[in-house]
Amino acid sequence: MVKIERALVSVSDKNGIVDFADALRSRGVELISTGGTAALLNDKGIPTVNVSDITGFPEMLDGRVKTLHPNVHAGILARRDVPEHMEQLKKMNIKKIDMVVVNLYPFKETVLKPNSTLENIIENIDIGGPSMIRAAAKNYNSVAVVTDPSYYNPIIEEMDSSNGEIGEETLKRLMLEAYRSTAAYDCMISEYLGGVFPTEQFPKYLTIGMEKVQDLRYGENPSQAAAFYADPFTKGVAASRLEKLHGKEISFNNILDIESALSLLREFEERPCAVVIKHTNPCGIACADNIYDAFITAYNVDSLAAFGCVIGLNRECDVATADEISKHFVEIVMAPSFAPEALEILTKKKNVRIMRTNEAVTLADAPTLKMKYVKGGMLVQSADNSQVTRDNLRVVTNRAPTEEEIKTLLFANRVVKHIWSNTVILAKGERVVGIGAGQMSRVDSSFIAGHKAGEDAKGSVMASDAFFPFRDGVDEAAKVGATAIIQPGGSIRDEEVIQAANEHNMAMVFTGTRVFRH
Ligand code: 5GP
Repeated sequence: MVKIERALVSVSDKNGIVDFADALRSRGVELISTGGTAALLNDKGIPTVNVSDITGFPEMLDGRVKTLHPNVHAGILARRDVPEHMEQLKKMNIKKIDMVVVNLYPFKETVLKPNSTLENIIENIDIGGPSMIRAAAKNYNSVAVVTDPSYYNPIIEEMDSSNGEIGEETLKRLMLEAYRSTAAYDCMISEYLGGVFPTEQFPKYLTIGMEKVQDLRYGENPSQAAAFYADPFTKGVAASRLEKLHGKEISFNNILDIESALSLLREFEERPCAVVIKHTNPCGIACADNIYDAFITAYNVDSLAAFGCVIGLNRECDVATADEISKHFVEIVMAPSFAPEALEILTKKKNVRIMRTNEAVTLADAPTLKMKYVKGGMLVQSADNSQVTRDNLRVVTNRAPTEEEIKTLLFANRVVKHIWSNTVILAKGERVVGIGAGQMSRVDSSFIAGHKAGEDAKGSVMASDAFFPFRDGVDEAAKVGATAIIQPGGSIRDEEVIQAANEHNMAMVFTGTRVFRH
């Protein structure tokens, strides 16, 4: 519990500060303030004590040093329950500060502003503000630390209902918010400068300055609570930067599916491409000369599984495509843009979420790191954004793949790395025809791919995300009618696997690169 008698007010974001300061003043609180904040408050007729009168120093070095002084920090940090502390304050003629109202130089906003220079960005690293916030938060039993304008009204209400005092619960909440805000502020500085001056790939400390984008209705299941946090400095197309044009609120699972769609679309920026995602795996993907053909083909790979899918397009959604999409039950349609009439068609359905990427989805935008949370820790790895080309292929069978087969093998290889392991897929031309995803044995994945493709498996090619440990996967491929295989190779039984392919007169190429998605 603390009675507020003196408050230090020093804010960059001046929203709401005049009303709040006025409310404090009219409740008998003495206000101390820094240059810009004081000027604004004084201009509105709210008297303040200048911090320079308290420190005995002018604000100096272009504002780099304003409040960094014992007369300020001792007033915040003195323990009210330790008599020696209070005696020392008295001896030095320093008055207690009961409330610190500070928000920081707009570092993030300056980085995000176009044309900001590094010098300007560095000037927007706040020094005195975080020091005061951290000091006040350390002494949270006796000092209220207010770092966000959204607290202004509730604080005045609490003071009014309890004789000008702030209670223990609020003091603790403010303290936590304060430390989170300065920690995130420093993470953003470290992340940004780490990008400007890259050193080691895996530095000693992992700093992620994440900010809440939104609370979500629930997590993977309705029994789980969830929120979406994002790196404000992310560039290019990302789930956190999509523009929602229509539809229900985005869900936790939607965001995961959007991520899967983006990761596939990034592989095919040079061709109109459509992906149909279910539970983070594609159930259809195709490239074609135009987006309509790509969509129709992709959707028909497994139209049964496509029920309730997320659709990703990498070209404008035109009227014909929108017309087709509108015939199906779809969770999300995502595209760089929508023709006005296409949007009209799609928005007739109340719930479908229409998301605009606004920019092209490119491999250059792909995340360079991948992270996975494990209890008590985080696994961090570089992302494999490389693409296998024909130069990387080693023909290991008696028969070399035909030109047509090579093209399809390369297409399939780009797809297979975005499907949960173990993965085996079948493809023809620029479309997949059967996907065997997420099985615990590769032969089962081969079987499922063949089963899904049905008659379409005949004359297809097969891609596997890792080597075949036994010949059975290859035998399965031959059985369903595949004519060529692309896989990393590297099994101790490679000879046996190659022999199987030769027996079936199949062409097989090794990439040398495993592409598990685990
Ligand atoms: P004003 O607009 O009142 O001149 O400045 C307010 C800003 O100054 C706040 O964002 C606050 O965090 C920051 N600030 C307060 N004291 C210091 C200091 O000693 N050094 C620096 N760099 N910033 C400070």
